Amino acid sequence: MSLDDHAEDLASSLGVDKTEVKRDLENLVEYSVPLDEAKDSLRRKYGDGADDDGGPTSKAVAEVDTDDSNVTVTARVLTVGKRSIRYQGSDHVIFEGELADETGRISYTAWEDFDLEPGETVTVGNAGIREWEGEPELNLGDSTSVSREAETLEVPYEVGGDTGLVDLEPGDRGVTVEVTVTECERKTIDGRDGETEILSGVLADETARLPFTDWDPHPEIETGASVRVENAFVREFRGAPSVNVSEFSTVERLEDPVEATDDAPRLGVREAIASGGLFDVELGGSVIAVRDGSGLVERCPECGRVVQNGQCRSHGQVDGVDDLRVKAILDDGTGTVTVIMDADLTEEIYGGGVEAAKEHAREEMDQEAVADAIRERLVGREFRVRGSLSVDDYGANLNARTFEAVADDPADRARELLAEVGR
Ligand SMILES: [Zn+2]
Repeated sequence: MSLDDHAEDLASSLGVDKTEVKRDLENLVEYSVPLDEAKDSLRRKYGDGADDDGGPTSKAVAEVDTDDSNVTVTARVLTVGKRSIRYQGSDHVIFEGELADETGRISYTAWEDFDLEPGETVTVGNAGIREWEGEPELNLGDSTSVSREAETLEVPYEVGGDTGLVDLEPGDRGVTVEVTVTECERKTIDGRDGETEILSGVLADETARLPFTDWDPHPEIETGASVRVENAFVREFRGAPSVNVSEFSTVERLEDPVEATDDAPRLGVREAIASGGLFDVELGGSVIAVRDGSGLVERCPECGRVVQNGQCRSHGQVDGVDDLRVKAILDDGTGTVTVIMDADLTEEIYGGGVEAAKEHAREEMDQEAVADAIRERLVGREFRVRGSLSVDDYGANLNARTFEAVADDPADRARELLAEVGR
């Protein structure tokens, strides 16, 4: 369906002029608002009279459905996050977080400042509903009313955004963490307003380590400092949660250092994959295969992708640069994951660098000779791996930082020794 068709559809369902709808739609899409979201916001703007059944119905949070057009709910405010977004060409400040009653919790986005405070009980009248990652979300706009309730609603959820890093998930907003900055680097990026300085690095508490970005560098954030960050939000970065600090976050130095864990949580493969992605995790299992594209590979000098027959997917015919890597399938009985090892780890496993590998391949007159040697060293053995796990539609990949053999079976070692001697 073309944008024109979408505009036509929308205009006829809303009973308004198509030219105007199309211009608005183009405007939104041009500013990278996803099409569905853009259409929703135009429905709000022009008023969706299509299924007007005489006003919103009062619902319990758990009853709110993505098919509802608008509802009224009475709920406790759990979190309030403030963020700036670019919308229809200008910057808008929005408020996001979660509301809850006894039956469940629900995300909300407020397009205006309703002065919401964590802990208060409110009745939100005539909130719009949109679907966000498969779940209903309340939209509080200019046709929404917010009234304070005198009686506090008891809810089975924590009020306020205080949380351990291990519990953060992409999409969380209005989050408060107390952490130690274990790595911090100042970077210049090409942002939407030209070159801007940001901070990026790693935060840690007793529960986990996570990457972070500070889009409005706070001087309190530096390597080794312990800080309390209020009003952060969580995004997905390479398949794992990442803490985002913005101009609306408050950062405060803490007198007492926050203990930073050095350990990664040790999980079963299935459990790790179910989490959707982890910045730092330890997995254990047997290597059941070494995948094609392991050993001696050639990378595109432009983008670093592995090239096939000198052809890069993005850059066509290129002069490939030799490199080493391993893609090994690790199985722990609960699931499998592809472990990806860079040149350094591959060198350790293979026992030689790129030059040695090229020499080896020349001698055997077989490019696969290196991968075969690696296969022999890995397949059927148990390893413990630590790194970043990302999960997508194509499977689960663990970018390994460490890769260690689990206490060698003495019989295996004897066989290895014999093999060495027999060479
Ligand atoms: Zn390329």
